[in-house]
Order: sequence, then structure tokens, then C-alpha cells
Amino acid sequence: MKISYEVVHLKAKHVFKIAREELEGDQFDNVIVRLEHDGLTGWGEAAPFVIYGENHRTVLAALETLKPVIEKWDDPWKAEKMMAELDGVLELNFAAKAAVDAALYDIQGKIAGVPVYSLLGLDPEDAPLSTFTIGIDEPKVVRQRVREVLDCPLLKIKVGGPQDIEALRVVREEAPEARIRVDANCGWEPHEALAMIEELADYGVEFVEQPLRAASVEGMCWLHERSPLPLMADESCERLEHVPACAGQFDAINIKLAKCGGIRHALKMIGCARAHNLKVMLGCMLESSVLITAAAHISPLVDYADLDGHVLIANDPFVGMRFESGRMVMPDGPGLGVQQR
Ligand code: MG
Repeated sequence: MKISYEVVHLKAKHVFKIAREELEGDQFDNVIVRLEHDGLTGWGEAAPFVIYGENHRTVLAALETLKPVIEKWDDPWKAEKMMAELDGVLELNFAAKAAVDAALYDIQGKIAGVPVYSLLGLDPEDAPLSTFTIGIDEPKVVRQRVREVLDCPLLKIKVGGPQDIEALRVVREEAPEARIRVDANCGWEPHEALAMIEELADYGVEFVEQPLRAASVEGMCWLHERSPLPLMADESCERLEHVPACAGQFDAINIKLAKCGGIRHALKMIGCARAHNLKVMLGCMLESSVLITAAAHISPLVDYADLDGHVLIANDPFVGMRFESGRMVMPDGPGLGVQQR
């Protein structure tokens, strides 16, 4: 197998603000991975996230380290063994490994002549609707953003800013029928979170993602006992080993391929979450259609989806899953089904 990779500069359509100021921006450097085997090309993407200690430079360094190991394998059907060997050579670096994982599934699907969802025995008709995400902003900007997506029945509103309730009021005014979920991205302290969640419940919010910092375990247990709304872990649940501890603190987890190391790890997390009676959402970073589509292939297994990263960027270099008013329309074609524009 041959591997090559290059950085892509993805530009967000709007400056994207969340409760963590260090993450504000409109430019995201991801890395597109290309595996070649027997005349077939498998695509993958690394979407590194600074809070997990990764950026495009760490991804390139990881792929450089893993390249000789990957290139000595020539059987894409032994993917589990190959990925385990990569873990043995280099720990962490989950965004880079998720890219290789996606490319392997793409090649397997292309050899078999079926989409990845079929390879996994899944029916895309079972996929949930996806939310469309609106970042923290002045209420008048939030109003404009909501007006742009009135066809989306599911909205995810980023909170943890100074005008959260006003923003929610504006969203409700503009989209009275929309189902709303909110994401605080670690932005609150426990008592503040409880007061906010009680107000959010009045606006018909369905659940709240990551109200407190990931390290705030006691705070989360306290909040979970009192919260009138279900709570979902994101920053608190990066990988498989974090899932069991989420029971008791949260009602659901948000799985992202870039956090957990790819499809094969996401499948294990889904199983573990079910065993702990946790609901599951598939989420994303700012990503091109490559990694978004990879996640969409396993979305028939989950309760909720937040797979809009490719819709939020202005220069997606690929086409794949089409986002039609929150409905995820899978591409035709084997493997991931993604194609370069
Ligand atoms: Mg989140």
C-alpha cells in the first residue's frame, strides 16, 4: 500500500465562536490522506483539534512516522492488525489514525464494490437527521444565521457566551418549530450551569452538551442529579476508555472520528455506550466531506447526528454526503463514495 498526504486549508463560511476562545477562527488546517492499493484509492482525513494536543504539524509528523509501517502492508482486509501495529509504533495521534482508518474502509468498500454502510450491514434509511450548528454571536447575527437555515428542523446552538438566553429567545422567535440542542463546550461552573439549564428547558431545548470542564467529575455528578434536561459528554468522552465513567455523569456521549481514532473505534464506543445505557451522537470538527461522509456511514447505529462540518466550510475540496435540510443523503458508489471536486 502507498500512502500520501497533504494539508488542506479549510475556510469557514463564518467566523466560528464557541465558549473556548482559543478555538475561535475561520481557517482550519486539516490533512487529506490518500492510500493506494492495487489501482484503488482510499481517502481519509485528519481533523486535528488543538484541545486534544494535535494540529496539522503533529498529524504530518505522525503520518511520516507511520508511513513505513503502512507501506509494508499489502492486504487491506487485515486492517485491524495493521491499525494495532500503528498503535504499537506510535501512541495517541488519533486524528492521523482516523484518517488512515477511513482510507482503509474506503479501499475495502471499493474492493467489495459496496458502500461502507453495506460493508457494515447498515441501512442508511436508519440514519437520524443531523443538526445544523450556529456559533456564539450577537443576537442580531444569530437571528441572521437562523434565517439562513429555516429549512433545517434541528439546530445546535453554541452557548457559554454573555448573551445565551437572548440568543435562544431569538432562535425560538425565528424558528418556533425547530428542535434545539445546545453545546456549552465546557463554558459553565456547576451552579451557573444548573440555572442556565433550567432556563433552557423553558425554551424546549432537547439536551445540553458538555456544560462543565472535562475534569469537573464531581461537578458533573452533582449537576446530573439535578438537571431537568439530559446531558451529553463531548470533551469528557474522547475515546473508548472514557465511556464507562460517563454513566452517572451524563445521559449521552458525542463520538467524533477525529477524537477516537476512526470508524473501528467509534463502533466499539457505540457498543460500550449501549451497555451503559447511554445514548449516542456522532459529531464532527470543521471537516471536509471526506471525514464527514465516513462518520455518516455509521450514523444508522446512533440516536443523534451533528454532521454539518462540511456545510460550514466555503471550500470543501470533496463531494460526499449531501446535507439536505438536515437529511443526510449518502453518495452512490463503493467505499466512502467521496470524490474530489
Ligand atoms: Mg461539542
